[in-house]
Amino acid sequence: MVGRAGRRLTVVDPDDLRRDADAFLEALEDARHRHDAGLVADLALEPIYARYRHLAEADLARDLLADAAGRHGDRGRDARGLARFAVDGAMGAATARHEEQVAEREAGAVLRLGAERIPFRAATARQANEADHAVRAEIEAARMRVVDSDLTPVLADAWAVRHDLARDLGAASYRALHEDLMQVDLDALARSAGALLDATDDLYERAMDRGLRAAAGIGLAGAGRGDLPRLMRGQAHDEAFPASRMLPALRRTLDGLGIDLDRQPNVVLDDAVRPGKSPRAYCAPVRVPGLVYLVIAPIGGVDDYRALMHEAGHAEHFAGIAAGLPVERRRMVEGALTETFAFLFDGLVSDPSWLGHVLGRPADGDHLRDEATVRLFMHRRYAAKLRYELALHSGGPLDGMDRRYADELSRATRLEWPSATWLHDVDEGLYVADYLRAWTLSSGLAAHLRERFGTRWYTRRQAGSLLRELWHEGGGIDGAVLAAELGLADGDLMLLAEEAGRVLG
Ligand SMILES: [Zn+2]
Repeated sequence: MVGRAGRRLTVVDPDDLRRDADAFLEALEDARHRHDAGLVADLALEPIYARYRHLAEADLARDLLADAAGRHGDRGRDARGLARFAVDGAMGAATARHEEQVAEREAGAVLRLGAERIPFRAATARQANEADHAVRAEIEAARMRVVDSDLTPVLADAWAVRHDLARDLGAASYRALHEDLMQVDLDALARSAGALLDATDDLYERAMDRGLRAAAGIGLAGAGRGDLPRLMRGQAHDEAFPASRMLPALRRTLDGLGIDLDRQPNVVLDDAVRPGKSPRAYCAPVRVPGLVYLVIAPIGGVDDYRALMHEAGHAEHFAGIAAGLPVERRRMVEGALTETFAFLFDGLVSDPSWLGHVLGRPADGDHLRDEATVRLFMHRRYAAKLRYELALHSGGPLDGMDRRYADELSRATRLEWPSATWLHDVDEGLYVADYLRAWTLSSGLAAHLRERFGTRWYTRRQAGSLLRELWHEGGGIDGAVLAAELGLADGDLMLLAEEAGRVLG
């Protein structure tokens, strides 16, 4: 509770803060959604930050950080939620211009491939559907040129601003600021990431080589990053994952859990094909729980199923948060928590029982191996990203970080990873740590559900009730609470190595 217990906010009245925070976040989420969905060309953030200037001031962030310091339990979680909101607001206001500029340049950039013109944001979809390795590599090179020349200068400026602001807020570094807000030992997580990489080196090389040969017609030694969309796309499995059955599969899954998607007025599905639409599926909780968009940009096949199920996990989580909770519990939900539900749902696409029951297909060994390969690739990629991002955000100069990025990612993926995306590939707030924790938590949650409700847990109303009870709490719980309540491991990445070994070993 802000402003109680003898501590007072100097800049904003707590009741005003709560009321305005909702409207502020709704305006930001709505603007980003309209741009990403391809509904409007411009991303106009600066007018929103100007209107809610009082919520995006460094002074408010300092106050709320001080208020959160030393608090424990539920009060600590609530206070940290508000502090994260204020930090995000101050960071967002200081870099709104950069975010607008990057969006504008990404939306406008066009790659030339002979006589063909490919919009920058359509490049990975084009690679996914391209059978020729050389053409995919050419698209990748053109894409990297755009990132390097048009985006990186803006991103470098934005990161310098954020790093300075973190120190201005009293933290030793951007990393220290977020480590404090997350209450996660990032060095321990990085050590676990190192152990995951060491333990899966051989397994990964074999699996990835086989996967790339089958999906992209080229072995690991000759492949490049431009071949990855082709691997994710998994065209060989198209017959098992037709576009026409994708939404029915989601409806059936939710129905089994006692959720009628068509009677959820607060969940709006957007699977339309639209020029300018972001290729990356997303969930936009514009009002929580009142209006949640689930947006996908289908290109066909199993990857669409993964994206739809993942975003549906987020959408059901946000749509299921109790309407009467204060704003910090409705809107300041920890990343690791919501990603846990998203991974729980997308994990069904590689669950033999779900494939048989919902898609009516017995599990196919090739598909299960390909899924495990893609997952292991992602886990290793994020393990490497964490190590890199901890260095990037620790307060030193940015010089040489492009090399560090390429080295970490190349070692983990065994591909010659281009350095050009050393800033384009970085999510704010060290979200990389949320993903890694969420993979371990979702793996534990799935095991818990199977144990309690059977392998077909997604057909059991009681499993749905358990999930709905968790969703109902919103930010009243976080990954650590979920782990404690259900006895799950939190952040032990060796779990992921074991999981990979069971399918690929
Ligand atoms: Zn997600």
